Amino acid sequence: MKKKVINLFCPVCKSKGNSIEGLKFERKNISTNSGLNFFFDIKYCTSCQLLFNAKFENKKVNYNSKSKFATYFNHFYFKKVYSEIFLQLKPYLNISKKINILEFGCGDGEFFQFLNKKMKNLNVKNKIAYDIDMRLKKKNYTNDLSVFKKKFSHDALNLVICRHTLEHLPSMDTFFRSLPKKFNIILLIEVPNGFKNIFFSKRFEDIVYEHVTYFSIFSLKKLILSNGYKFLREFSLLNNENIAVISFRGNKKFQKLLEQNLTKNISLNKKIYLEKIQKLVKNLKNKNVAFWGVSGRCLSILNEVIDYSNENELKCFLVDSDICKIGSNIDGFVKKIISPKELKKKPIKKIIIGTEVGFKSIEREIKKLNLCKSYSLWSDLN
Ligand SMILES: [Zn+2]
Repeated sequence: MKKKVINLFCPVCKSKGNSIEGLKFERKNISTNSGLNFFFDIKYCTSCQLLFNAKFENKKVNYNSKSKFATYFNHFYFKKVYSEIFLQLKPYLNISKKINILEFGCGDGEFFQFLNKKMKNLNVKNKIAYDIDMRLKKKNYTNDLSVFKKKFSHDALNLVICRHTLEHLPSMDTFFRSLPKKFNIILLIEVPNGFKNIFFSKRFEDIVYEHVTYFSIFSLKKLILSNGYKFLREFSLLNNENIAVISFRGNKKFQKLLEQNLTKNISLNKKIYLEKIQKLVKNLKNKNVAFWGVSGRCLSILNEVIDYSNENELKCFLVDSDICKIGSNIDGFVKKIISPKELKKKPIKKIIIGTEVGFKSIEREIKKLNLCKSYSLWSDLN
């Protein structure tokens, strides 16, 4: 069969030519409501690590109320995800006296309702949830972008939520254009970790035909930066199944407020962390210690309190089993992250686990690889 050469470009960084590699997968679609045998032409952008469906046809997607997206997680897990997102957003919510809650791609509105409930004690000025599919013809929901745009205001912090939506859009410009440039915005984007699932775990069932793009944390960050937003924090959810980034855009005054607020938060946490680290250093002088599954915030604090040049103080390693993180310096961290297998080669006195959610699976891995007898949760350290 003759191959037609199409002039492809990456939907995030617009790279083309040699930067775009073909990864051709064929698989019968089992995870969507379509009985058709779809052929996926998935391309990979080497400059921003985005996987995307180069032949995506929106018309073929049958969005209707009977659509049943294969869901591996029940609502118990959804609630956990919602709570985690709220915790991550919380430090930014008190920088303005008023808040607008604006959700783009609200689906059935479950998260929108959760957020409204959580924020009922805050001064919420406007709230609106937009979705193209309007199953909910209720107050505060719309399928009209112009109504959505009108709810932004100057006298409030405009909190924009966009969860599990961008990966469905043939053009993400629609989304960014719906956020008026003149307002102060805090933007939370959450997408499936398509890069991890497809590229590394080879879970081809994750290629669903409703998805155009399959993000990595790298391409997600690239997307927000190239649309004029500044990065605040990244985090992953459900054991790295989903990835999220919080970013912002706004005037100088807003930026300053945000920075002051961040410093305040960091210094509060830093004091607690500092005490914990000092105790560790006291008890583990000249011993190796490994940190496993630590969040971005925790890492940046470690970075500030540990003097890595002083090997007498504390020899420490950063470990993660997530292949996307191994070998990288997260958040400009001095040390590169190593794999659990690599850690086995080092004599380790103690492992500190930074994540409560992933504690059990890390514990299993420590036992399986017989890495170290002593390990504890970061928050339990005393
Ligand atoms: Zn790209």
